[in-house]
Amino acid sequence: MLKAVIFDLDNTLVNFWQFKQESAREASAAMVQAGLPMSAESAYNLIFKIYKERGVEYQLVFTDMIQPFHFPKAKFEKIRDAGIVAYLRKKGQVLRPYAGIPETLAELKKSYRLGILTDAAREQAHQRLNFTGLQEYFDAVGTLHDTNIYKPGIEPFLHICQKLQVQPAEALMVGDNPGRDMKGARAVGMKTCLAKYDPYFDNDGPAPDFEIEKPQQLLEVVKRIG
Ligand SMILES: [Mg+2]
Repeated sequence: MLKAVIFDLDNTLVNFWQFKQESAREASAAMVQAGLPMSAESAYNLIFKIYKERGVEYQLVFTDMIQPFHFPKAKFEKIRDAGIVAYLRKKGQVLRPYAGIPETLAELKKSYRLGILTDAAREQAHQRLNFTGLQEYFDAVGTLHDTNIYKPGIEPFLHICQKLQVQPAEALMVGDNPGRDMKGARAVGMKTCLAKYDPYFDNDGPAPDFEIEKPQQLLEVVKRIG
């Protein structure tokens, strides 16, 4: 019997990649305008090169971009702060739950315990949940800090089930990443549902038990599981 539904956060509940890309685009233009001596296109590519090396949650990306130029402190700060402000402004405009997510969570919450399982750091995960107004729906939030092991390692999946006080077989994992979300959930015996409504999912992993093209279809999935 299904007792809990556990969600990945980024690109499953919120449009993380869209916000990252659009915010990085704005930050690049603003930093170039403030005096960073490269094209906006090069600045944008550099942001994602640094994210690739340091992880997409890396917080000092703009500092790392500007430092090699050895500008005086005032110029350094002007460029960095232009980037940060442009980034955050765009984030406020773009970062959202996908259409249908809040309504679907509200409906699911009537019958199931709801959890989050994300590889994001605790602070980032809670910020993103608060920012998008999703915090209130969840009974438990599992982040990287709980186990220090990334999905698809089995520890985070077992840990969030424990937090929700359910057996893995009583839980459904919903995520956009087959190689992380579906693989780890399958390994511990959870049911799996692939969220396919954003084009940014990675295709490498086991076939899920269910696939959804819209958040609302999750209500049909839980009915079918029973
Ligand atoms: Mg994801």
